[in-house]
Amino acid sequence: MSKIDVLVVWPNRPEQMKILEETYQLHRYDQADEQGKEAMLDEVGERIRAVVTTHGGGGFPESLLARLPNLEIVCCSSVGLDTLCVDKCHERGIPVTNTPDVLTDDVADMAMMLTLTTLRRFLPAVNWIQDGSWVEKGMMPLNTAIKGKKLGIVGLGRIGKAIAKRAEAFGMIVSYYSRSPKPEVDYANYDDLVALAKDVDVLAPVVPGGADTQGMISREVLTALGPKGYFINVSRGSVVDEPAMVELLQQGSIAGAGLDVFVDEPNVPAPLLTMDNVVLQPHCASGTYETRGAMAQLVVDNLAAHFAGKPLLTAV
Ligand code: NDP
Repeated sequence: MSKIDVLVVWPNRPEQMKILEETYQLHRYDQADEQGKEAMLDEVGERIRAVVTTHGGGGFPESLLARLPNLEIVCCSSVGLDTLCVDKCHERGIPVTNTPDVLTDDVADMAMMLTLTTLRRFLPAVNWIQDGSWVEKGMMPLNTAIKGKKLGIVGLGRIGKAIAKRAEAFGMIVSYYSRSPKPEVDYANYDDLVALAKDVDVLAPVVPGGADTQGMISREVLTALGPKGYFINVSRGSVVDEPAMVELLQQGSIAGAGLDVFVDEPNVPAPLLTMDNVVLQPHCASGTYETRGAMAQLVVDNLAAHFAGKPLLTAV
């Protein structure tokens, strides 16, 4: 029996790619140049029954969906689906799977790491040793404590709650803004983002990207955070007015930022590269061997469930 044809828009971890290679006929769209991609779609587009992708590397656009008339399932190795045409897939009755839960702890750890390194000025302190300042100038200027600081979480979902738990352990006081009430927690709830930003020391959005959340951390919200306030972003670059954020950081109108995500990745606004009150990460919050392995395995398991006629593990 011939193998099921699967289009690889973005590859998985090597161990899971091996399983996929053994089980399916893989078509490596990810490895083809533009001409090769076109030729591949012309040749095998009609045979493709499954797509393997992630939110990066182009996700899964409507233009690609249109070339796959017999597609049955899209398996994405990320929780965020803002670059995938999920609604269009659903209109055609094609399920889309993602990878919730398995990455929650790593992403929450990253949010805490960014909070700690930004407020405690970890990187300038490393630099203080490396550039000889400790020897020449003595002790470095003081930094900001975590304990007792107020953390405002925007979007109290899986990752938001995991950040809250960690922040409490560090003695932070948690409050949140959410589109739906969360009766299971007793953190202070705000229905006004500007009011939340005004009241907290650290503001951290953990909402999905996409049209609904585009620019929700606006200039007004960041201005309310104020010159002693810090902005921590592990969600998506699109949720913040990035030019306003850069400008307010330059002016000292917010104190600092810890950022794992940007509007135009992998391009980071140039002024951020030289600011010593900013900690940057290359969108790697879930980038541990353990978590990426678990995410890749979910792709394999969802595909297997689909073609065995069993319920999907993590359909959206
Ligand atoms: P969840 O769906 O569990 O949580 C998202 C939260 O955002 C929910 O509480 C949801 O509200 C809220 N929300 C959604 N839309 C809006 C809106 N328009 N206005 C206000 N609140 C909104 O997702 P996760 O916690 O698992 O993941 C959150 C996001 O984190 C992902 O979508 C992704 O963008 C980002 N992420 C980043 C990673 C990185 O590497 N930096 C890795 C993984 C995720 P409600 O409770 O009402 O549904």
